[in-house]
Amino acid sequence: MSTLTKKNALGFFEIRLESIGGLGANLAGKMLAETGALELGFNAANFSSYGSEKKGSPVKTFVRFCDPEIEIRDHSPIEEPHLIAVFHEALYKIVNVASGLQPDGVVLVNTTRDFDDVRSSLKIESGTIALIDAMGIAVEERTKINTAMLGAMFRICDFLDPEAMRTVIRRTFEKKYPQLVEPNLRTFDRGYNEVEFKTYEVPEGSQIKPFKRVQSLLGYKTQLPGGVIAAQGNSILKDLGGSRAGLLPEFHAEKCINCAACDNVCPDYCFVWESAEDKRGRLQQVLRGIDYQYCKGCLKCVEACPSDALTSLREEPGYAELNRVTQVFC
Ligand code: SF4
Ligand code: SF4
Repeated sequence: MSTLTKKNALGFFEIRLESIGGLGANLAGKMLAETGALELGFNAANFSSYGSEKKGSPVKTFVRFCDPEIEIRDHSPIEEPHLIAVFHEALYKIVNVASGLQPDGVVLVNTTRDFDDVRSSLKIESGTIALIDAMGIAVEERTKINTAMLGAMFRICDFLDPEAMRTVIRRTFEKKYPQLVEPNLRTFDRGYNEVEFKTYEVPEGSQIKPFKRVQSLLGYKTQLPGGVIAAQGNSILKDLGGSRAGLLPEFHAEKCINCAACDNVCPDYCFVWESAEDKRGRLQQVLRGIDYQYCKGCLKCVEACPSDALTSLREEPGYAELNRVTQVFC
C-alpha cells in the first residue's frame, strides 16, 4: 500500500471540490473516497454540502484520506485543504474558492485560460496551479466533466493508483450503463494525461489563506420582526451559467424568421424580444438575442429552430458576458 505524501496535524490528506449542482462533484467525491477505501487500503470519508436546488447553485464536496490505523472522527467541512478542485469558473463570482488553501497546496481548475490569468482570479500568492480543459474533454467524449477532473486529481494525488479508479469506473457504470464505461475510461485517462502544472514559490513565512465561512445575510439581529420576508421570491438575480455543460446556443439574426419556436421550448425565458416594424411597416415582435444569464445550455431551442438561426457553440470564457442581450423587467 502507498502512503500519504502530505498530512495535517490529525493525519488527514484533505480535498475540497468546489462545484455547481449538475456537474457531478458529489459523485466524483464518492468515487474518489470509494477508490481510496475499498481499492487502496486507506481510511476515507466523503460528504457534500448543497442547498435545496438540484442545478445551478454552489456545491462543496469534501474528501478525507488517512492511513488505516487512524480513525476518522472529524466529519466537519474541510476548511484548510491540501487540494482544491474548481469545477466551474463561474464560481469565482460567488464563492471564495481558494479560501483556506495551504501555502504549498494545489488548486486544480477546469479552464481554457492560462496560469497567470487563473492565478489572478484565484488571488493566491503561492502553491501549485493545475489546469485542465475538463469541459472540452467531456464535450469531445460525450461524458461529464467530473471524470476528467477525477483523472487530473489522480495525477495530483500520487498516492492514489489510477488503475484502482479504472476498476471503480467499470463497477459504477457497467451494470446500468455499460455503453458509458469506455467513454468514461477515456475521459479519465485524458484528464490524467492532459493536466498541466505551474508552481509559484512559497515566500518565507507564508500563511494559509484564511478560510471565510459564508455568513447568512439574515440572522436574529437583522431579521424583520416575525420573520417576515419583504422581497418576493424570484430568480431575477440568479445566474444559471454554471449549469451549462460546455455548449450554448449562438444566435444568427440574419437567418431568424421570428417564429418564436425557440421561445416556446425554452424552460427559462431566455429570449429577448422588441417591437419593430417589418418590411411592410407593420409592428411585430422581433427577436433581439439571448439573455445568457438565464441560459442553462439545454439546447432545446437549437433543435426547435426551423431556419438554422440558432446553432450550438462550444462556450469560451467571457463569450456569454460579451454577447448577452439583457432582459428589461418592468
Ligand atoms: S439552451 Fe436554449 S432553450 Fe435551453 S435554456 Fe438556453 S436559450 Fe433556453
Ligand atoms: S426558432 Fe429560430 S427562427 Fe424562430 S424565432 Fe427562434 S431563432 Fe428565430
